[in-house]
Amino acid sequence: MEADPCRREREEMVEFQIRARGIRDERVLAAMQKVPRHLFVPKGLERAAYEDRPLPIGGGQTISQPYIVAVMTEQLEIRPHDRVLEIGTGSGYQAALLAELGADVISVERLDDLALRAQENFTRAGVTGVRVVVGDGTKGYPPEAPYDAVIITAASPAVPEPLVEQLGEGGRLIAPVGPRECQDLIKLIKREGKVQRIPLGGVCFVPLIGQFGWQGEVSPR
Ligand code: SAM
Repeated sequence: MEADPCRREREEMVEFQIRARGIRDERVLAAMQKVPRHLFVPKGLERAAYEDRPLPIGGGQTISQPYIVAVMTEQLEIRPHDRVLEIGTGSGYQAALLAELGADVISVERLDDLALRAQENFTRAGVTGVRVVVGDGTKGYPPEAPYDAVIITAASPAVPEPLVEQLGEGGRLIAPVGPRECQDLIKLIKREGKVQRIPLGGVCFVPLIGQFGWQGEVSPR
């Protein structure tokens, strides 16, 4: 049996969905070539894992579209041993890519079931270097702050202030910000205490629900 049955699909994803659309960071492209995305989707959806779209992962949540994951990862400018905080573990795929780039990752997930499944996915995929914490990620994770990079993979009306506070000097933060349905992807860079804000384009993410995000449940899309 072939060791990696999806290698060809992953190569095509990287070439035609990612590189062809302008992602240039060879380290990000190599990480996306390496991490087995099909091990991060629910059983029965493996064949769709390399398609150009988000997929359901349970609990009304999604694993994001590969291209958007690539944009966010490239913009985080990860260096080996960076301390990275991810909010919204979901399937664990984004965190696995960050770990593949050499980061030490803390990933916070609000839903117990998803946190558990993500940990199972890491084991199956042989991913180390990610610690999953269950809780309200809008408050960040103060015990390990400051972070070199923060990535929020769910959408909120504004960037939660605790996450900006927990970003270290020279730190990068990427987040979808705006109305519930669709948002602007933004990048913040903290330098000498000042925060620069760079718009990266339109995206549509599930809501970030918590004290500094949206309040209360919303019906799954
Ligand atoms: N990064 C994920 C991946 O690679 O599969 C995709 C994340 S999914 C688009 C958004 C995730 O954010 C969901 O799993 C959802 O439960 C989680 N979430 C929403 N509000 C949250 C909060 N306040 N704290 C932590 N996680 C939250």
